[in-house]
Amino acid sequence: MNEYDSKRIYDVVKEIGFEKTDQYKEADCYLLNTCHIRDKASEKVYHEIGRVKKIFRSKKKPLVIVAGCVAQAENQEMLKREPYIDIILGPQAYHKINDIILNFTEKLKVEETEFDAVSKFEYLSRIQNKVGKATSFLTIQEGCDKFCHFCVVPYTRGPEYSRPFDQIINEAKSLADQGSKEIILLGQNVNAYNYNDMRLSNIIGEIEKIKNVQRIRFTTSHPKDMTDDLIEIYKDSKKLMPLIHLPVQSGSDKILNLMNRKHTVKEYLKTYERLKKINPLVEFSSDFIIAYPGEEEKDFLDTLSLIKEVKFINSYSFIFSPRPGTIAEGLQKIDKKISLKRLEKVQEILLDNQIKKNKSLENKIIEVLAENQTDDKTKIFGRSEYMTPVIFDGNKKDVGKILKIKIIKSNRNTLFGKMIDNLDKKVA
Ligand code: SF4
Repeated sequence: MNEYDSKRIYDVVKEIGFEKTDQYKEADCYLLNTCHIRDKASEKVYHEIGRVKKIFRSKKKPLVIVAGCVAQAENQEMLKREPYIDIILGPQAYHKINDIILNFTEKLKVEETEFDAVSKFEYLSRIQNKVGKATSFLTIQEGCDKFCHFCVVPYTRGPEYSRPFDQIINEAKSLADQGSKEIILLGQNVNAYNYNDMRLSNIIGEIEKIKNVQRIRFTTSHPKDMTDDLIEIYKDSKKLMPLIHLPVQSGSDKILNLMNRKHTVKEYLKTYERLKKINPLVEFSSDFIIAYPGEEEKDFLDTLSLIKEVKFINSYSFIFSPRPGTIAEGLQKIDKKISLKRLEKVQEILLDNQIKKNKSLENKIIEVLAENQTDDKTKIFGRSEYMTPVIFDGNKKDVGKILKIKIIKSNRNTLFGKMIDNLDKKVA
């Protein structure tokens, strides 16, 4: 979502004449769009600002803006601790950036962290989302009402908000007109989308009708919001990709309860089984928090069993690390050595799933969306339907197309193949 936000912030500031530069020293304005999910997020911001300070030591200071979730969470604290920062801008307030910049005076620092998603998206809908890529993000929903005990999102992004249906479809059409072949629908709880009873399944159905869009994905989902209509759409959709990112976090009901996840392992497995029955090509990916406070050996073994049963691919796993201001912040952490051992075991099994999946594709022909050229310009980087990176020989004209690739070999992260056909010609 930060990538989407950064792009949209750029679309907005272009209106008042800003251009991106990779020449740090020449910048008039330095904007850091921050994420609060990972460990030591605010320390990383201060470190980065320190770097900017050094670069501009003997030059006129640029306007320094900290945007995003760290800005939202730390707000006034940041301005106090680092006077080099001029403006603090929360993730629901970045549509106000032009007014703030134009009215900024050095004596008056600005902190704008209001939750104002309605006017943000109204404003953004009037500014074209300019793409230059085969795959585009499209935010349809923001915020979260679930309050998992480990998570900062409800505090940094605010309550659940769903954008108006027509606004989303118009943006999708505009992205397709500009060449996007794949649209990734975004939301902190993307499948909680609900605008006047229009749900995520309605958005997928409508985008499916846009001729130039050939792939649809959505992320991130909550197991509780995998409603019947959304499950059913996997039966007939031709464009919805078969990888479902559905974070489960733990395979133990006790831990899910301690995390306040609001679902059980049985309910999760029921969704998995229903989807597999409707469409056997579907695979699941997930996030796992290992060594959450209270996790005993038995709970951990339950997580391993679930990973083996669902055969998750393309997944993420982390040792629990407390986030400031959350309920889990004050809980007793599990011994570091035990945590690390558990993480290694989880990652070993996830890796094994991934290697097996990649191996099973060798000598098969798969469809790949070519995203860009590799740095040496001799090869193309693309992604399979399951989001796995694919590398193959090709040139610039292949970028942005869906191609048939025969997979020759694979490793744990990547598939390597040879181009067989250009499916785009047939669509045209
Ligand atoms: S559902 Fe997701 S975004 Fe919401 S609190 Fe839980 S982890 Fe955070």
